[in-house]
Amino acid sequence: MNDNQKIAELLFPNITTTPEYYYKKYPKRYLKDGAEVTRIAPSPTGFYHIGGLYQAVIDKFVAAKSGGVFYMRLEDTDQKREIADAGNIAYEALRYYGVTTQEGYMGSLGESGEYGPYIQSHRAEIYQSFAKYLVSIGRAYPCFCTKAEDKAEILERREKELEEGTLIMHDKCRELTLSEIEDNLKAGKPFAIRLKSMGDPDKTFTFRDEIKGEREIRENGKDIVILKSDGIPPYCLAHLVDDTLMGTTTVVRGEEWYQSLASHIELFDAFGLPRLKYAHTPVISKLDNGNKRKISKRKDVEADSRSFRIMGYPKEAVVEYLVTLANSDFEDWRAANPDAKLLDFPFSVSKIGSNNPIFDWAKLNDISKNIIARYSAEEIYNKSLAWAKEYNMDFAKKLEDNKEYAISVFNIDREIAKPRKDIAKWEDLPSYYDYMFNEYATLNVDLAQLDMNVLDIRNIVEDYVNTFDFGADKDQWFARVKELAVKHNFCIDNKLYKVDPTKYNGNLAKFCTIIRVALTGKTNTPDLYSICMSLGKRELKNRAQAI
Ligand code: GLU
Repeated sequence: MNDNQKIAELLFPNITTTPEYYYKKYPKRYLKDGAEVTRIAPSPTGFYHIGGLYQAVIDKFVAAKSGGVFYMRLEDTDQKREIADAGNIAYEALRYYGVTTQEGYMGSLGESGEYGPYIQSHRAEIYQSFAKYLVSIGRAYPCFCTKAEDKAEILERREKELEEGTLIMHDKCRELTLSEIEDNLKAGKPFAIRLKSMGDPDKTFTFRDEIKGEREIRENGKDIVILKSDGIPPYCLAHLVDDTLMGTTTVVRGEEWYQSLASHIELFDAFGLPRLKYAHTPVISKLDNGNKRKISKRKDVEADSRSFRIMGYPKEAVVEYLVTLANSDFEDWRAANPDAKLLDFPFSVSKIGSNNPIFDWAKLNDISKNIIARYSAEEIYNKSLAWAKEYNMDFAKKLEDNKEYAISVFNIDREIAKPRKDIAKWEDLPSYYDYMFNEYATLNVDLAQLDMNVLDIRNIVEDYVNTFDFGADKDQWFARVKELAVKHNFCIDNKLYKVDPTKYNGNLAKFCTIIRVALTGKTNTPDLYSICMSLGKRELKNRAQAI
């Protein structure tokens, strides 16, 4: 046994396994050539961030397109930041949005798959065996610097060395001898394990990121901690161990990891492991008073993936919006293939731009309106009811008590060549259709905007309602409306009207607006004929009388 091996034994007397053992235990996945294995690896630190969902969408496409596997892992090594149930929330968020995994961590349902455990806190022994191995080959060493007291000392020394130009990026523990280490251990001093870096930050190497393309990056020169004094690894070692043993081929992760990429690569090289492919995703941002900034976990409603559920966006609208953020040609594809399955879209990581995309509510709304416009009235009913049962009990009750009526309302202007695209989310429904679901008295109908005597308005609407024929079709109805307009001195020929408007109370459009506003409180609604048909005789009369 050489000194390094002796040190490894002293540090990890209870670890009897080696990386070799785990390489055999978790054999290579049996997949076809070119199949990609991707993973989503949230840390359970709070709500599930939209950026996580965005990455998961990319992961899912990459795996699905290549016939590979998309799995989930829970990265719960930072116990200080852990929030109870956050892992489950992340799993459920992916499930809710249909960005489903095939393997791995499943929240409160446990886990499934051959490469587990998929929860990092259950893998301590595996990480320790990798750390022990690295010590045994002389590429890692124990660091006994206790955090608080030594940090200041290290910082001070580094500053001095920086000034003198003699800064070397490792700590004094690097030079400890076997017997010094033994003494420290005997004294019961806690230790972390650091990588013995062989890199030179003055040198660069070329690395090809799947999104950023080929770039020169500086070699790592830091003796990064790979195992903390509690025996739990920070991200770098856990990433190497898990992504290697679980067979990941492409790591899709946030841009913030790019700066530590060189240290991760040095670590892979130190173990003699093949490097993985990386796609560092740009960060979803927003415009704040004209300035572009990252979406903030604390301030911005769009940061929480649950917000869209609460507002009642259909799940596929949210997911399709995220696809447009990644591949900007998606919208054109969707317009040309409205009924195609999402996963049929020719997604490519190489089409992801490296600029941070801006979260654009208007775009999300557009996508959502298009999706909702394709739903049948029955689908609108079922989906909005499911939403309302969670977030608007009043509206849920109205829907449940009046199912057929509600479906007839949702069907207005729907099964036509160009259905209206007014609804972006279920939250909009109660106010959009207030005149169909609420009492007339609550509508705050503003007749003043019609610029006409109220008595005259009332006359017109009463006449309209009293002669409304529920057996008439739309053409017959319109003919009748024109007759009434003439009767009340509105001009139904616009050219004629323009010659001398003073001769009339208004044109046909104005006549219709009067009826529309008086009955619904709105100047713009779907088809008035269908609205009246749905409201029914009694309600029309009530409304006419209430004017
Ligand atoms: N737990 C890390 C995070 O939430 C995962 C990074 C990765 O995907 O490798 O940022």
